[in-house]
Amino acid sequence: MQARSCTRCPELAATRKTVVFGAGNADAELMFVGEAPGASEDEQGVPFVGRAGKLLEQLLGEIGQKRTDVFIANTLKCRPPGNRDPQPIEIQNCEEYLLRQVELIQPTVICTLGNFSTKLLRGDPTGITRLHGQPEVIVLGARAVRLYPIYHPAAALYTPRMLETLREDFMRLPELLALGPPEQPAVPVVPDLAEAAELAEAPDPSELGGATTPPPSGRPQSKGARQDESELDQLGLF
Ligand code: URA
Repeated sequence: MQARSCTRCPELAATRKTVVFGAGNADAELMFVGEAPGASEDEQGVPFVGRAGKLLEQLLGEIGQKRTDVFIANTLKCRPPGNRDPQPIEIQNCEEYLLRQVELIQPTVICTLGNFSTKLLRGDPTGITRLHGQPEVIVLGARAVRLYPIYHPAAALYTPRMLETLREDFMRLPELLALGPPEQPAVPVVPDLAEAAELAEAPDPSELGGATTPPPSGRPQSKGARQDESELDQLGLF
């Protein structure tokens, strides 16, 4: 809902038909991040529905997955007019939405498609030609994920050699997923203030002669667990 009414990029907000937030399984282990919506995506409000999307779907089928199994998003949520490259300020404006998506979905593997998402999520200008097919563990927000850069399907559509490489890299996704989540960074224990206040007001169970209650502690952040706004603030995402 927040992204839908976003006007951070005045030109994109004025020319878009829809905000293409992302689509798929919100609990996916595998997330793809492309560049930006094109004309078909802008029309339908769904990422990767044009020719590049058909190729992505075909490659997914070859590893036994459907697009509804994974989550597909883009670096930009709005179509740059005439399919021009995203501008640095637009990438910066939209980054918060992508990081929040990653935080909510908690994928094990993020597969970046092409240069823009790879450079953004690695925070480094090294290009896809050097990096494709090489998984690495990176920390985004509070979580470690396996980042796997591969060529963008749109580039591979016109270059048979690149398509071959994209397919080879794609075929390694199942083994990467099978590794499971990478080791997670230690998370500082954040006391739940509401819970602590409630306990402070409650009578001491030992005085009531009942069982003792363990002291409040930070809740483990399991997949799908909701985080308090205060915790999100501390991740610096909003
Ligand atoms: N290319 C992208 O990067 N994203 C889309 O959604 C479609 C084409």
